Amino acid sequence: MNAPFITVTSVSKHFDPQLSLGDHIAGVLGGAVETRAVRAVQDVSLELVRGEVLGLVGESGCGKSTLGRMIAGILPPTAGAVAIEGAPVMAGRRPARKRTTRVQMIFQDPYASLDPRMRVGDALAEGPIVHRLVSRAAAPAYVAGWLRKVGLAADAAQRYPHQFSGGQRQRIAIARALAMQPDVLVCDEPVASLDVSIQAQVLNLFLALRHELALTMVFISHHLGVVRHVSDRVAIMYLGRIVEIGPADAIYTHPQHPYTQALLQSVPQLTLTEDVVTSFKPIDGELPSPLAPPPGCAFHQRCALAEPRCRQQVPLMRDVGRQHAAACHLLPASTDVPSASAR
Ligand code: SF4
Repeated sequence: MNAPFITVTSVSKHFDPQLSLGDHIAGVLGGAVETRAVRAVQDVSLELVRGEVLGLVGESGCGKSTLGRMIAGILPPTAGAVAIEGAPVMAGRRPARKRTTRVQMIFQDPYASLDPRMRVGDALAEGPIVHRLVSRAAAPAYVAGWLRKVGLAADAAQRYPHQFSGGQRQRIAIARALAMQPDVLVCDEPVASLDVSIQAQVLNLFLALRHELALTMVFISHHLGVVRHVSDRVAIMYLGRIVEIGPADAIYTHPQHPYTQALLQSVPQLTLTEDVVTSFKPIDGELPSPLAPPPGCAFHQRCALAEPRCRQQVPLMRDVGRQHAAACHLLPASTDVPSASAR
């Protein structure tokens, strides 16, 4: 078994929401002001080996983007730690110096992440020059190489972001990240803002680059099909916790957790021969507020299989074999694993 390359150890992230007007009034009148933290991520542990792609899936608000930002070292955890080859990605509340080039993040909206006043070539050269990955004199050729690598012409360097389509802008954002020569890419919904026909092109680009550059990737998406296409393993998140993790094929063909099963059933399926939806079933209820997560299993209010113990006891992650684990009381208890890590 390969040594872990990325290690996420018992990571949590809690945000302090600003006091509402009602809270202020209660305080002024002498009532106790209770400030509750938003528990975006709760005690998550993970390991990735070098070159692996881990998909992170879950409903909006489940904590997957927050976890991705902590892995990328742009958001300090409230508790726990993230390390790459044993070196922490954070130095206190700041990114560790080495992390800056080792991990790069790609966001959903490439236009928002590119300075509209900067020519593409300057945007791509800026980071590598600052971090001495390339000299100023060699930067134009260096930038042209990365633009070609993502399927753009070298003369794109002379133009501005608004002169490109959405798909081309995302290619520019990918080239800018790769120009920093990272080992790790954290991609947060990188194709969600693109037309369906363009999504496939960009996903295939990720797959090609992943193999060519031996990248380790965390791929975040609410879209189950997209994640299956690119991932070796998939982790399902629910209300800040990983509730199931395993090889992508096993997750999609033999889901163990009732939430994963419900999530898969909630996706409308189109037949290949007829343009009709065959079957789907929306998940009952809504995601509870991370301000007040339910006790016990956080899914118990929406789970058709819930038992009395589900309302009181947080289920442990249980190994179901072949690097596949899920956190549900209904799974055999003899195979508890210490954390969400199933590697
Ligand atoms: Fe459902 Fe209970 Fe399993 Fe949670 S622990 S998924 S409530 S059966």
